[in-house]
Amino acid sequence: MDLSPEFSTPDIPVQTINDPLLEGTGVSLSILRTDLIHPVVSGNKWFKLKHNLIKAREQNKTCLLSFGGPWSNHLHALAEAGRLFDFQTIGLVRGELPSPLNPCLADASASGMLLQPVDRSTYRQKTNPEYLASLQELYPDAYLIPEGGANREGALGCAELNLYYDEQQFDLVSMACGTGIMLTGLATSSAIPLMGFQVLKGDAYLERQISNNFQHFGLTSQCRWSINDRFHFGGYAKTTDELITFINRFERIHNIPLEPVYVGKMLCGLYQLIKKRDFFPQNYRILVIHGGGLQGNRGFCKIVQ
Ligand SMILES: *Cc1c(COP(=O)(O)O)cnc(C)c1O
Repeated sequence: MDLSPEFSTPDIPVQTINDPLLEGTGVSLSILRTDLIHPVVSGNKWFKLKHNLIKAREQNKTCLLSFGGPWSNHLHALAEAGRLFDFQTIGLVRGELPSPLNPCLADASASGMLLQPVDRSTYRQKTNPEYLASLQELYPDAYLIPEGGANREGALGCAELNLYYDEQQFDLVSMACGTGIMLTGLATSSAIPLMGFQVLKGDAYLERQISNNFQHFGLTSQCRWSINDRFHFGGYAKTTDELITFINRFERIHNIPLEPVYVGKMLCGLYQLIKKRDFFPQNYRILVIHGGGLQGNRGFCKIVQ
């Protein structure tokens, strides 16, 4: 596909993580800093939005409509992407709008997003074809994007992530997974295995969902992939003192900001696996994807109680 230069992505740094905690483990770590792409439209949300924006342009839509919770990284990125690329944006927000708006929604609003609260039972219809058809009728100029950017276009954008690192330098790519779209997309292009850390509680649901994604989107995995569902730290957006202590130390030592919903959990889980010594082979080279999401830190107190 001929991509408009308008939607091209700047270089993304790959940094080596030299950590005393990992000395002698035989594993080396590097990190792909997609959080540095743009101050607002950052991280994997940019990759998930890219082909949606291109398609919206192709369909001459003037508005982007999507769904999210009150701390949604996706709505936050979508609002600013809409402003930058000249789309109106509508965010259907789960539950009531906090008053005053929290920092995430205040940013989205300042970027021009029209925020519409949706009661929880209606919100659960977010993938129901009839509900979506009624929204399309209500907003004929809108291009609809699922919650979290979780559609085929979202996956196609994430399939481009491996253009930003040299696959020959690594044995595994590790990432945090919510919807699993990033992993689905990257698996269609990756020559090396992928490991996803499920940040929501629930036995093996994500593995099934990702398998369904391939089928649903007509995509094929090119690599081995696995999901670890043991490091959710209590569930979505839940934290523990152990997790917060890990994050604070990591940020201090490496001067790399993390957040506790995705990246922090993945790294904390990965460190535990590496420290087992027999989990990964010797001289194993792991690249972790920093998926961004730093705006969400404003919703957390990162002081250990
Ligand atoms: C949304 C998000 C993810 C999860 O991506 P999925 O494609 O939903 O699995 C990971 N990290 C960050 C920072 C995110 O914002």
